[in-house]
Amino acid sequence: MEQLPEDWQRGIVIAAHPDDIEYGAAAAVARWTGQGKDIRYVLVSSGEAGIAGLPPAECGPLREDEERASAKIVGVSEVEFLGHPDGRIEESLALRRDLAAAIRRHRPEMVVLFNFSGTWARGYANSADHRAVGRAALDAVSDAGNEWIHPDLTDLPIWSPRWAAVYGVADGSHGLDVTDTFETAVASLTAHHRYLEALSPEPVAAQARAVLEMTAGPKEGIPAAHALTFELYYFAG
Ligand SMILES: [Zn+2]
Repeated sequence: MEQLPEDWQRGIVIAAHPDDIEYGAAAAVARWTGQGKDIRYVLVSSGEAGIAGLPPAECGPLREDEERASAKIVGVSEVEFLGHPDGRIEESLALRRDLAAAIRRHRPEMVVLFNFSGTWARGYANSADHRAVGRAALDAVSDAGNEWIHPDLTDLPIWSPRWAAVYGVADGSHGLDVTDTFETAVASLTAHHRYLEALSPEPVAAQARAVLEMTAGPKEGIPAAHALTFELYYFAG
């Protein structure tokens, strides 16, 4: 399997919810910030519908704080929330515009996004938000480089990333060794303390480790104890 390109300096990660990045991709983020790359997060929602029993008005700020703490652990200090409604994100022109604007603001060479197919594993349905955000984000990578599609973004100069790497697909085209940053990724997911606490009575650090052992375990074709795979898309940038 080919290695994911790393000859770039700035990247953004676009996700639907706080915690999406920490379920595996954060191990790659930690590797990249360790190489001196500049990585920023763009979260389409604040995950305010994510904790049973906790009303959205209380949940949203708490989850934003947990996301910022997670980001800090892997060397990311810039975390942007776009304020679309958790659980009700629409794959719309408005979302494409917001994401194209974010791409133009941050001017990344690499955009990381998440599996937007109908399933996240065979037999397990992917959420409507994940489908909407992944598809809109891939479209927004093209939109950001076109001066005519979103006429209300004329204040932001056009920008074309070079790649989009989709994390969480079943049969990725490119791999990355994350052995050295596996423990950092565990710590990053553990920072979603309140969220994980509501999911299971098991201690949150143990939950985080078990999840990462699954998502960032060994992968066929990559000689590493811990690896991630991505589906890579090429753009004009
Ligand atoms: Zn999610």
